[in-house]
Formats: sequence, C-alpha cells, structure tokens
Amino acid sequence: MTDAKQLIRPERDRFLADENPFEAMMSRFDYAAQLLRLDGGLYKVLRNPEKQIIVSVPVAMDSGEVEVFTGYRVLYNTSRGPAKGGIRFDLGVTLEEVKALAAWMTWKCAVVNIPFGGSKGGVVCDPTTMSASELEKLTRRYTASIIETLGPDSDVPAPDMNTNERVMAWVMDTYSMHKRHTVTAVVTGKPIEMGGSAGRREATGRGCMICTREALRHLGMPLGGAAAVVQGFGNVGSVTAELLRREGCRIVGASDVSGGVYNAKGLDPQDLVAWRQAHRYLSGYPKGERVTNEELLTAECDVLVPAALENVITARNAGDIKAKVIVEGANGPTAAGADDILDRKGIFVVPDILANAGGVTVSYFEWVQDRGGYFWSEETVNNRLTEIMVHSFGHVLEVSKRYSVNMRIGAYTLAIDRVAAVHRLRGLYA
Ligand code: NAD
Repeated sequence: MTDAKQLIRPERDRFLADENPFEAMMSRFDYAAQLLRLDGGLYKVLRNPEKQIIVSVPVAMDSGEVEVFTGYRVLYNTSRGPAKGGIRFDLGVTLEEVKALAAWMTWKCAVVNIPFGGSKGGVVCDPTTMSASELEKLTRRYTASIIETLGPDSDVPAPDMNTNERVMAWVMDTYSMHKRHTVTAVVTGKPIEMGGSAGRREATGRGCMICTREALRHLGMPLGGAAAVVQGFGNVGSVTAELLRREGCRIVGASDVSGGVYNAKGLDPQDLVAWRQAHRYLSGYPKGERVTNEELLTAECDVLVPAALENVITARNAGDIKAKVIVEGANGPTAAGADDILDRKGIFVVPDILANAGGVTVSYFEWVQDRGGYFWSEETVNNRLTEIMVHSFGHVLEVSKRYSVNMRIGAYTLAIDRVAAVHRLRGLYA
C-alpha cells in the first residue's frame, strides 16, 4: 500500500461505515415506489437482485506465492435487456456495494432509456500494489470464473474504479478464447483498435459537463466564469474538469486519493493531468493551496462534482457545502441522510443515475457498433450522447416537477416506472 493510500484509507472507511450503500439506494427506491404506488408484488421483485455471484480468484503473484482474491458479480435486473455494469478493483469492494452499484446501473439505463438491465462486478484488491502481470492474471481468472453470466446478450462489463481499456481488452480476450472466436460486444470501454467506440473514454465526463450546463441554464446561472470543484481526478473527474474549463468554467479545486489543491484564480486541468502522469498522484502539485478531501468538499464554489467514491457527502458535512449545484460524477457520493439537508439549503443536485449516465450511454453505442460491425465518427457519438443527455435531463426535471420532488427522486421515479412497465408487460414466469 502506498503512503497516499495509507493516509486516506481510514477516511474512506469512516465514510463507508456511515451508511450501507445498498440501504442508501433502497431508501430512495422506497420513496419513488410510494410515489408510483407500485403494487406489492412488483415492489418485492424490484427490491431484490436477480443473481449474486461470489468467486475466489487465485493468482500466482510475482513473488511465487499464491494469493486468493474475492470477486463479485451481481445482476440486479435484466427485464429491459442484457445486464450492463462495470468492474471495480478496490480494497473497499463489498457485496453490499456491488449490489448497490448494480441497482444503480439498472435505474441509470432506464433513466436514459437504453435497452439494458443493470449489473456490477468487483474484486477486493489493491491494484496500486500489483504489477501489470498480476493484474492481467487476476482479470483473466475473474473473467473465467464468471464466464457463464457474461455475453453480449446476457451481461456486458465496462471499466469502473481502477479498471481501464487495458483491463477490458483482457476481459474480451479471455471470453473470446473460451468461445473459440472473437466476441467484441461482450465488453465495452475497449481500446478503439479492437472494437471500442470513439468518445467512450470521455463519455462520462462529457455527460457530467452537459448536466452541469443544463443545470446552470435551468437555474439561470452563467456557465462562463462559474467556479467548479472536482473531487477525484481519474477518468470521470479529470475529463469533467477539462470539458468544464473549455465551456468557460474556472476549476478552483481538484483532488485525488492523496488529497486536494485549491486555487480561487483557477487551475489548469491539463497541467494537473500532466502532474499526475509524472508523479502518479496530485499531492505536491505546486500551483495552489493544499487542502484535504474533506475541506475541498466544503470549499467556496458554484459547482461541486464528486467524482471519486460513494458516501463522501454525509449528514456531517452537507450543512457546510457552499456549492449551489452538485453534479454527481461518482456513483452514490451522497449518503441518503444528506439529501434533506441539501434540499433545505436549496442546493440543486443532479443525481448520479443521470449525471454519470454518459458512460453507459456511449457503452451502449459501442455495443451497437460492435454488433453492427460499423463504426461511427467521434462527432456522431458526441452528438448522439448530447441529444440523450439533454433529453434525459429535461425528462427528469419534468418528473421531479410533476411529483414536487428533487431531481434524485424524480430520476428514481422515472427509472422505476420504466422498469416496472416492462415487468408488467412481460408478466411473472412461473
Ligand atoms: P478512476 O479509478 O479513473 O479514478 C478514481 C479517482 O478517485 C482517482 O483520482 C483516485 O485517486 C480518486 N480517489 C480514490 N479514493 C479517493 C478518496 N478517498 N478521496 C478522494 N479521491 C479518491 O475511476 P473513475 O472511472 O473515474 O470512477 C470514479 C467514479 O465514477 C466511481 O464512483 C465510478 O463508479 C463512477 N463512474 C465511472 C464511470 C466511468 O465511465 N469510468 C461511469 C459512471 C460512473
């Protein structure tokens, strides 16, 4: 484990101990289910994951010793289509977290109305301490262990925390070796050379930028000059920061697992990326004031983008948040106990299942392109993504107004209504 991780891990554990992520998801689900007057049977069906898999993943480490890792794959609901959901490598992975993430994927795909169900996977490991060869062996063995559920028509993984295009290439190759032919559509977020989509890497951040733009427009706030803070400087956070800067926002704060940096005059996201590439972490970045992740969340800004992990905005710190808009790049960054506090403060929250849905939307495009064997230009991908995100934002806003609820409950209501409608049409197979 690195020093930076040692520094932050107790903080993360404290956050995660605050609230079980599955229960946090369920409390919002219950609220929306009541608004929809969901019938008792359907309510019970939608509260339970369809399938939960736990596997032991033995890996021969570089030292020659064998380590056994625990892996999970949860298929939450597949009524609307094949399950879709990323794979996460992290020490904090638990079955409850994977269940919550799989449920969020179900609601997210329904919010943007793409024909997928929801799933998620994870392996309990610390990838920062593992060599490339160990990670490859871990990925391949985990893929082989869950291979019965995988497939373009059944369950399609994608990248998530600490996994990337490289890892997706290993998943695709392992699956294809077992099938004895190349199956590109089994996984999304692949390198472009092997069936990946143009624009996929930036898609989640692009969706966050579009949601920020729509939220500020709705509130009558100018985007140009708006001050934004981004927590987490990985795929989602760094792309969101750069695209917001291109829209004229001032990125006043950024952080990663090693801590944060704040500069009211503005930071250059590309310079931060270059620093991270050279030094692995943001810590030590000289062009701003050093702050902790906790301080960054309550720093002076207009827009806050939590883009790292769940449960970072809690009942403890929600009252101190100064942002007027929160755009949830991460999954589940706001504990259920913080929702009311944010509402009372009049903070406009674009919830995760809408704000970060750009990733799965372009994953859907990638799956469509792989199956059709015909690839689109980046411009086409970005235009179609923009159309879906703007439309979905408007739809969630409309539902939230109709039921007089916040955007989060509006998004859950829209999603659960769509999933429930398909269940009613399909009926209950006995
Ligand atoms: P990533 O691994 O590329 O980046 C994660 C970032 O978070 C890193 O900068 C890391 O240093 C930072 N981080 C980790 N622990 C932290 C802590 N305790 N405090 C502050 N920062 C911390 O991951 P990503 O793909 O950018 O995913 C980030 C979040 O976005 C996750 O919640 C993920 O589920 C969600 N998400 C990702 C995608 C996608 O397409 N990648 C899509 C939808 C949602």
